[in-house]
Amino acid sequence: MITAQHLTKRYGDHAAVDDVSFTAQPGRVTGFLGPNGAGKSTTMRMVCGLTVPTAGHATVLGRPLRSTPNPGRTVGVLLDASAQHAGRTGRETLALSARLMGLPPRRVEEVLEIVGLTAAESRKRTRGYSLGMRQRLGLAHALLGDPTVLILDEPANGLDPAGIRWMRELVRDFAAQGGTVLLSSHLLREMEAVCDDLVIIGGGRILAQGSAGELLRGPSTRVRSADDGALAAALTRAGHGVERTDEGSLATTASTEQVGRVALAAGVALTELRAATTTGLEQLFFDTTARHGREEIAA
Ligand code: ADP
Repeated sequence: MITAQHLTKRYGDHAAVDDVSFTAQPGRVTGFLGPNGAGKSTTMRMVCGLTVPTAGHATVLGRPLRSTPNPGRTVGVLLDASAQHAGRTGRETLALSARLMGLPPRRVEEVLEIVGLTAAESRKRTRGYSLGMRQRLGLAHALLGDPTVLILDEPANGLDPAGIRWMRELVRDFAAQGGTVLLSSHLLREMEAVCDDLVIIGGGRILAQGSAGELLRGPSTRVRSADDGALAAALTRAGHGVERTDEGSLATTASTEQVGRVALAAGVALTELRAATTTGLEQLFFDTTARHGREEIAA
């Protein structure tokens, strides 16, 4: 389990991370989602004990990672796949860490196999690696000590579609075996596919958190009618969530067909009925991105 409590990091007047609290549970993949510059990396660095918080604290498996003896045996970390010694081969990089962690040399072969780096690739110096190969090597490094917690910053960066699918399965398997996974991304669709829980961050602050299912469900249908008050009441009676949107229509969790049936039974004439193009989470995301002037979130 990973716990962050009131983590805050200021650089001068600028709060890169502002009062961020969350937990990542065993057996679940927790996604840390936000536009570029939102504070994801800074938070992960604080969780890993690499950046000292201005306030708050974080624990991994019940203690600060800095005070965990031989941390690579319990926690696998991949924060920056490019931060590898350019003059060493992939195999040398892993062998050195294996020795430092007190692991047998055969573990290097095992993790190379897991991440799909071939023998020839593992003998190349990392300066010649593509970003995708660096991600695989970084992940091999994170898995080396057979940890129960994985902390991965933008692990899908630089991977091709097959690589992204592979990464997704690896992370899901890890959690299915009881491991705790915290991973970050600025790609909503990617997180939707892999995460059980989401922590959404923008401008250094948490904007929403909860299970991915709950957050992504959101109102799915937009409707206008001759009597929105009566329709809203009928939809609520039928057990559907309803809210009024900024544009004056109703947003509801009911499908378009369900709305049609409820409206018919209530005797309310519909003037507009359509499936929403974005979920509440997507809208939140686009709003955040616009507010902080960052690049658009790729779907
Ligand atoms: P993300 O990982 O979500 O893209 P970061 O955590 O890298 O976001 O950055 C959050 C904010 O903190 C950004 O505005 C960034 O410019 C700022 N920041 C990060 N590290 C430093 C630093 N060492 N010094 C000053 N500002 C920093």
